[in-house]
Amino acid sequence: MGLLLSMVLAAASATQPACGPDVLGTSRTLTLKREGAAWGKAQHAALPTLAPGEVVLTFDDGPRPESTPVILKALADQCVQASFFMNGEPLKQHAALARQVRDAGHTVGMHGYRHEHFSPLQPTAQIADLDAIVATYRAALGVEPAAYRFPFLEETPTLMKALAERSITVMSVDAGAEDWLPDQTPQMLADKLLGELAKSGGGVVLLHDVQDQTARAMPFLLEALKAKGYQVVHLRWE
Ligand SMILES: [Zn+2]
Repeated sequence: MGLLLSMVLAAASATQPACGPDVLGTSRTLTLKREGAAWGKAQHAALPTLAPGEVVLTFDDGPRPESTPVILKALADQCVQASFFMNGEPLKQHAALARQVRDAGHTVGMHGYRHEHFSPLQPTAQIADLDAIVATYRAALGVEPAAYRFPFLEETPTLMKALAERSITVMSVDAGAEDWLPDQTPQMLADKLLGELAKSGGGVVLLHDVQDQTARAMPFLLEALKAKGYQVVHLRWE
């Protein structure tokens, strides 16, 4: 082995000590354009270039100090990169934790300032909520947001138009585990997730980092994905 190659390998292993062949890992990064698009088969087209068996892990409603770091640890242990769609109120309150999520290499998107049902709201109130989460995101993370997931996946024409005008991509979902339902064991969550993924063939997975039961189940869920041969794709925006 050449000296240069040895040095490169040593440097790689120094930065990623846990990323051996036994972990789930992140198979590739999918970089999307900053544009007014909308993806996720629950409501839109499938994410472009995602192949059968590839999954994108997403976590909504955080950050929450009691559970988000538990999720981060589980992801780090398996060298998995994910996306976190954060609400404005917890993002403002726990900005340092949001930066910790970002600094661990994960993608951070928006999920509304408050977790509103937007359909009954006046257009001005909907836009005010968007303005608030965009301003909070900028203040916490120092960059422009690129992605948005609607609370309850409840899209409105007013916000779809406003997001498109701002070149913010809407992310819906392809599969989930209904992890907001109470009293779900890791096995129950894994069964639901694998069942939905079997139907969808992979895709964008919806989970919630505010849920203690999800945080507890993450090592088991990641092992289950690995056992079934799913490949994790890290989603990011240019
Ligand atoms: Zn939500």
